[in-house]
Amino acid sequence: MHFDTLTIHAGPQADPAFGAVMPPIYQVSTFAFKGVKQPGPFDYSRSGNPTRRVLEDTLAALDNGTRGFAFATGMAAEATVLALLSSGDHLIIHDDLYGGTYRLATAVTARQGVAVEFVNLRDPAALARAIRPNTRMIWLESVTNPLMNVLDLAAVAAVAKPKGITTVCDNTFLSPCGVKPLDLGIDIVLHSTTKYLNGHSDVVGGAAVVRDAKFAEQLFNLQNTMGTCAGPQDSYLVLRGIRTLPLRMERHHSNALAVAAFLETHPKISRVLHPGLASHPQHDLAKRQFRNFGGTFSFKVKGGEEAVFRLLTAVKLHILAESLGGVESLIEHPWTMTHVSMPEDARAAAGITKDLVRISVGLEHIDDLIADLKQALDQV
Ligand SMILES: *Cc1c(COP(=O)(O)O)cnc(C)c1O
Repeated sequence: MHFDTLTIHAGPQADPAFGAVMPPIYQVSTFAFKGVKQPGPFDYSRSGNPTRRVLEDTLAALDNGTRGFAFATGMAAEATVLALLSSGDHLIIHDDLYGGTYRLATAVTARQGVAVEFVNLRDPAALARAIRPNTRMIWLESVTNPLMNVLDLAAVAAVAKPKGITTVCDNTFLSPCGVKPLDLGIDIVLHSTTKYLNGHSDVVGGAAVVRDAKFAEQLFNLQNTMGTCAGPQDSYLVLRGIRTLPLRMERHHSNALAVAAFLETHPKISRVLHPGLASHPQHDLAKRQFRNFGGTFSFKVKGGEEAVFRLLTAVKLHILAESLGGVESLIEHPWTMTHVSMPEDARAAAGITKDLVRISVGLEHIDDLIADLKQALDQV
């Protein structure tokens, strides 16, 4: 089946009890046994829930995996995957990434005796130098947050695989419409379903998808043991969002490219970081690797933080808020908002500067979006 059809028909078709065409919300903690020592297909909702299962099967299908897992939040998905590591292991993690991942790795994983090392994974030589005998995991993002650097997923997987190192790719920014990391040799793909997969800014959720049976079993055990799973209501909402994912991503992609092209020619903007622009240093890699660039990108405003604050105050349609991937356009300042959990020197080292603005381009009419940015920039 084509991807667009899978978003609608993956997972079990129609509910066995009454034929409901959308999965019922099984708002239940426990399931009756058929008799002594005879559990049904589900026994307790932490271990498995029918609504969550439909979402998990759909997630697996969209990423060409064999098994999907739905979590309470993106961070719950990350914490569960990081629990694959043990004290004494070495984790290589890309140096420019989601602020919450940085905080989890440094404040929790490192404290548990894992050696956490931040490396610029765009540089294959730096990756080769960083690998040690105890390196167990390499963690990357398909497109990095907020700097929109592109990582060569197949190249990183090719280095890791022969050494038996597990690769994890956070693909929140692109969704499976942009790239399917498992097809490029990555072992575990992660999503904050809060963003594009749900797409309506009304749920926090996370996902992990794998192909290899060993990872499927390990993650099932960890999800069940740690209790990080998604609840049935949230699972239902994410599933409903997924039904329109390809349609939404098409519009996010085209709107964002049009906004990026507008900003690139604006005299008050010094740089636009969007992998779909010919000016992006990794534009060729992005075109080769991705089928859709999503709706989120960053740009730099001339005049530094003061000019940024004036812009953020002047926008009317764009909402000043963290997060991304919803139907509405959001705008934010990584330095004071999403990336404050990174120390200033780490932000500076990664290249996250005070003049940087991140925008999540929504599904509004493109003329209204550009008009809003134009009037706001006039006031800068
Ligand atoms: C939002 C986000 C997360 C965390 O997800 P939550 O659902 O907020 O817990 C992880 N990675 C990326 C790239 C994100 O944008």
